[in-house]
Amino acid sequence: MVTGGYVRSINRDLTNRPDGAHVRRALEQWWTRAAGLPWLPLALVVVILVLDAVSSQVPFHVLWTGLLDEPAHLATTAVVLLALAPRWCARHPGLSLVALAASTLIDVDHVPLFLGVDAVAASSMSRPFSHALLTPLVLLVVAALWVRARPVLAAAAAGVCLHFVRDLGTGSGLPLLWPLSSTDVAVSYPVYVVALAVVAGYRLVGPARPSRARPVPRATSSVG
Ligand SMILES: [Zn+2]
Repeated sequence: MVTGGYVRSINRDLTNRPDGAHVRRALEQWWTRAAGLPWLPLALVVVILVLDAVSSQVPFHVLWTGLLDEPAHLATTAVVLLALAPRWCARHPGLSLVALAASTLIDVDHVPLFLGVDAVAASSMSRPFSHALLTPLVLLVVAALWVRARPVLAAAAAGVCLHFVRDLGTGSGLPLLWPLSSTDVAVSYPVYVVALAVVAGYRLVGPARPSRARPVPRATSSVG
């Protein structure tokens, strides 16, 4: 027999189960705290180095390479945001999460290539057409026209640009200037890592302090 108390207990459990809003709020609170840790960007650079060292020892495989590369993309974006704009990160955790998400989701454009659909990239490119500055430019144009979605679209554009930072220094680069040019643009891996380390180091010695970080409101669900 199912008692009323048992049913109430199940309902309470279901109510307490983490849903999307809870998870996002937890992530935003974690991110706000992360913005106050000056050493974190440099620690993330070390994480990137470890991920890339492991990746270099593993033969290319869509799954395993992706599982190592995408966290490194996330870390790259986090390094730049946390080091150069900690106050903004603390004040806009929701928009920060949008930028972080966009900095990995752009790689969805590789899926057609893995499925054998070569039309998404020219033969001279190691990455698809959408790995070009045209993509964040389109996002910014839509942001300019769509006022309501402007902050989210602008954050997404920033995330895509930060994705390109890592792609510049890994693999054969990316077709940044497409459609003006189909040639991959690249820098060497050490240039990417040193540039990231310099940016991370700036967080340690620079003037930025998220001292006026506001706590994430509990009741609101909108980003930023
Ligand atoms: Zn990419």
